[in-house]
Amino acid sequence: MSSLRFSYGTMGSGKSTLALQIHHNLAATGSGFLCSMHDRAGAHVSSALGVSAPAVEVNPMVNFVDLAANHLAAHGALDYMVCDEAQFYTDLQIEQLARVVDEMSADVYTFGLLTDFRGKLFPGSARLMELANERIELQVQARCWCNEPATHNARLADGVQIYDGDVVLIDDGQIAEVTYELRCRRHWISGEAGPVVDQLRVAG
Ligand SMILES: [Zn+2]
Repeated sequence: MSSLRFSYGTMGSGKSTLALQIHHNLAATGSGFLCSMHDRAGAHVSSALGVSAPAVEVNPMVNFVDLAANHLAAHGALDYMVCDEAQFYTDLQIEQLARVVDEMSADVYTFGLLTDFRGKLFPGSARLMELANERIELQVQARCWCNEPATHNARLADGVQIYDGDVVLIDDGQIAEVTYELRCRRHWISGEAGPVVDQLRVAG
């Protein structure tokens, strides 16, 4: 039975690294392709560890059923798709991925963040939670500064945590320096940055 899998985790949980590894392994014996959206390297999947591979760049207009059918026509087979940054996909696109699994018997491996900096489910991740055959939480022991397991992504503007704003930020040079940090829920809610960051800020 083919399957729609959703592997989710915080930033730094190795999602892209795992996506690249699965693509590499499956490509050895099967036919399929990588997709991504808003990756740090453009039409690639790139991991924080420095590995990258070419990928189909997804935008909201991409139809995954068409994409899968095109691959099948060009290569004579479609065994799998690996989809990174799936939190950004639309509801319709997640439903298309489910159809690729059900109608074309391909395995679809999706990877993404579960919640945004506001602590809300990303639309694509919510739909995957509803439709996926398997939901897998990635565990790589990411920690908050207090050493509790990190479960939330905090957005910081000039070092201060913020809770409002667009989910996808386009850097137009007009905004404060935006960074992200992993926090436990307690410190994501309180906004406390921890002693090390405070010292650095004083030193800087
Ligand atoms: Zn904490």
